[in-house]
Amino acid sequence: IILVGNNEASKIYIRNKELACNYVGIEVDKYLLDEETKEEYLIELINKLNSDNKITGIILQSPVPSQIDFNKCSGLINAKKDVDGFTKENIYNLYLGVDTILPCTVKGIIKLLEEYKIKISGANVVIVGRGNIVGHPLSLAMLNKDATVTIAHSKTNNLKDITQKADILISATGIPHLIKEDMIKENATIIDVGVAKIDGKIIGDVDFLNVSKKAKYITPNPGGVGPMTVAMIIDNLIFMYERGINNG
Ligand code: NAP
Repeated sequence: IILVGNNEASKIYIRNKELACNYVGIEVDKYLLDEETKEEYLIELINKLNSDNKITGIILQSPVPSQIDFNKCSGLINAKKDVDGFTKENIYNLYLGVDTILPCTVKGIIKLLEEYKIKISGANVVIVGRGNIVGHPLSLAMLNKDATVTIAHSKTNNLKDITQKADILISATGIPHLIKEDMIKENATIIDVGVAKIDGKIIGDVDFLNVSKKAKYITPNPGGVGPMTVAMIIDNLIFMYERGINNG
């Protein structure tokens, strides 16, 4: 796991990832780089880890400081070691609908739905948010699962008219309590991905207290998608180890 800089939330995220790995017996090396680290140094480190056959997976924690181009650097991770599923090869495979390493939050959401036997095929799935980490790749994964997908974002007109049609509504914006009770269909499934912090407290995209009265299923936040994301890091690592170039 590579962390560049002093982002406090990132430190908590990588700690959780490390604890989960240790729990199942996966060894973690952490590279904690200064806020001022030059991009060339980071690239050198990624190349070194790419060619080290004792390393199964590499995570470059986002965000990174402004002198570093996150997309460029994360794109240099060997696709077979790409725990987060963000490299071009893995995203292209997702686009093609072939077996690939899925981004962890996307995979966690699908696992949740499958575990609770919530039918994705044919369902009206509305995703609020088109970010590269959640909304956008999730839309492809849902399409691959035969859902009818609608993506909404900050420029969407009449959001409520769209969300009300969702059998499965997934919100990934980071706007606190964007999704209210009158925006959902009776008995819908609601997945709350967004994370905002107000006075040190995590607030999700969904007004849980009121929306939960109307929904059939709803994820808590915190405590829903977040832990699933961490669990899928492990799932991806095992998948990569089993099919990897470096499992000797
Ligand atoms: P992002 O790239 O910032 O994308 C946010 C999206 O929300 C954008 O597409 C934006 O629209 C849309 N949006 C903003 N305001 C909106 C509004 N009023 N109505 C409708 N859409 C609106 O974020 P991300 O990286 O995809 O992450 C999304 C959220 O999930 C964040 O809060 C992040 O912290 C959280 N997250 C949680 C986990 C977890 O494990 N729980 C994992 C990853 C991310 P535009 O494109 O038009 O700007």
